[in-house]
Amino acid sequence: MEEKLTEAVIEAIRLAATNLPEDVINAIKGAYEREESRIAKFNLENILKSIEIGKNERIPICQDTGTITFFVEAGIKNPYLSEIGEILLEATRRATQEIPLRPNAVDVLTNKNSGDNTGRFVPIIHWELVEGNRIRIAVLPKGGGSENCSALAMLNPIEGFEGVKRFIVKRVRECGGKPCPPVILGVGIGGSADLALKLAKKSLLRPLGMRHENERIAQLEEEILDKVNSLGIGPMGMGGRTTALDVKIEYAHRHPASLPVGLIIQCWAHRKAFIEVDEKGKVKIWQ
Ligand code: SF4
Repeated sequence: MEEKLTEAVIEAIRLAATNLPEDVINAIKGAYEREESRIAKFNLENILKSIEIGKNERIPICQDTGTITFFVEAGIKNPYLSEIGEILLEATRRATQEIPLRPNAVDVLTNKNSGDNTGRFVPIIHWELVEGNRIRIAVLPKGGGSENCSALAMLNPIEGFEGVKRFIVKRVRECGGKPCPPVILGVGIGGSADLALKLAKKSLLRPLGMRHENERIAQLEEEILDKVNSLGIGPMGMGGRTTALDVKIEYAHRHPASLPVGLIIQCWAHRKAFIEVDEKGKVKIWQ
């Protein structure tokens, strides 16, 4: 069973690295239709060609295959639960060889690359214990260029949602073309510094175009999207209407003195895949 599950995780990593999900492709195609400038259309056309080549040839759609992040919802009654941590590590090592992925794990002390995308605390694994017997794993390879633009603000609560918008728009403007726009913005509001960033990254798993279930948060997503798209940064930072494809927000209760805002900037190469393992070891993979 361990080998079967390892193979499934490798397949999910391959799917994420080589094939963008429909929601992302549709958002890029929609942006292409809306853009008027030739250069913006040209950049989006090239992005769509890269996606097509990756899919047809089963090769990574970008040379930076990212740092692999797993979000695991671990059903406490699943009999394979104790094996999953080691399976994720082994699958990452083998996927690096087999797909192949660029080795992106560098030792902070020696600057030596481990060569297999594993190392101290990487791949990044976020665990959440849940009721039931299913394990659901989200695979999110995240490029370094866009991650470099991610940021945290510890706002004064009096700044409210206006402060949240100001911080995000300022950060996106500062970064310009660096995160390979059109981007997807993951935003975490509340909690603590670490929780805000974790929620921001997790919010990226929600399909593009799907608004938050809370009406006020959904409205804030729209407001930020409009403001960011009025910056004119455009595809690959060369001008245009589409700086962001979408904004995703997740939120938590906060300390009375703090309003943390985590911002994770994701590039157009928004790679993701999902795996579910039931109590009998039956596996489902999708995007
Ligand atoms: S930011 Fe994204 S699209 Fe740009 S080089 Fe990195 S992974 Fe590739």
